[in-house]
Amino acid sequence: KKSSLSEVKIAVIGAPSVGKSALSVRFLTKRYIGEYDHQSETRYKHEVLVDNEPVLYEILDTCPKNEDDYPSADTLNWADGILLVYSITDRRSFAYVKKVSASLTDSDVPIYLVANKNDMVHLRQVSAEEGTILAGEMDCGFSEVAAAEQVAPIASVFQDLCRAVLAARRK
Ligand code: GDP
Ligand code: MG
Repeated sequence: KKSSLSEVKIAVIGAPSVGKSALSVRFLTKRYIGEYDHQSETRYKHEVLVDNEPVLYEILDTCPKNEDDYPSADTLNWADGILLVYSITDRRSFAYVKKVSASLTDSDVPIYLVANKNDMVHLRQVSAEEGTILAGEMDCGFSEVAAAEQVAPIASVFQDLCRAVLAARRK
């Protein structure tokens, strides 16, 4: 069955203020706006070509109320793929994604770990090596990006996660 459009549901998960909305909006619109008035969970639908095939992305930009507000089982089960986001300038945000990753050990949903705010190296609290190690433990992709900078590396993150979702579906 050829012509059916693949739908890929991505949950964007991470502590408050790491740049979940900035990354989602940057991927979807190519724009960096700087301030996001998102006080609640936002859902976007957008068609994007992945390896020349149209994919309908549904992106759930989650909105935890505080550092101890973890995603619900419903949210994690809803997702075909999970984008775990922390900020290199915020050690607590790294602890947040570690905690979420621990709750995903029995799940086989594809994950991608992304470290945001790579433009703020002077305020770095989490080394790239720590990110690499955590991604190794989760057996998932990892990269450091900045929503504030080039869009191409951000698009690659979403596209890589999407490819992993499509590959898992084919099995
Ligand atoms: P969210 O709570 O995870 O959705 O975070 P937001 O997307 O609302 O971003 C929180 C703050 O971090 C905002 O002030 C953004 O402008 C800022 N921010 C997001 N991404 C970057 C980035 O790559 N670099 C810098 N310097 N600031 C960023
Ligand atoms: Mg947000």
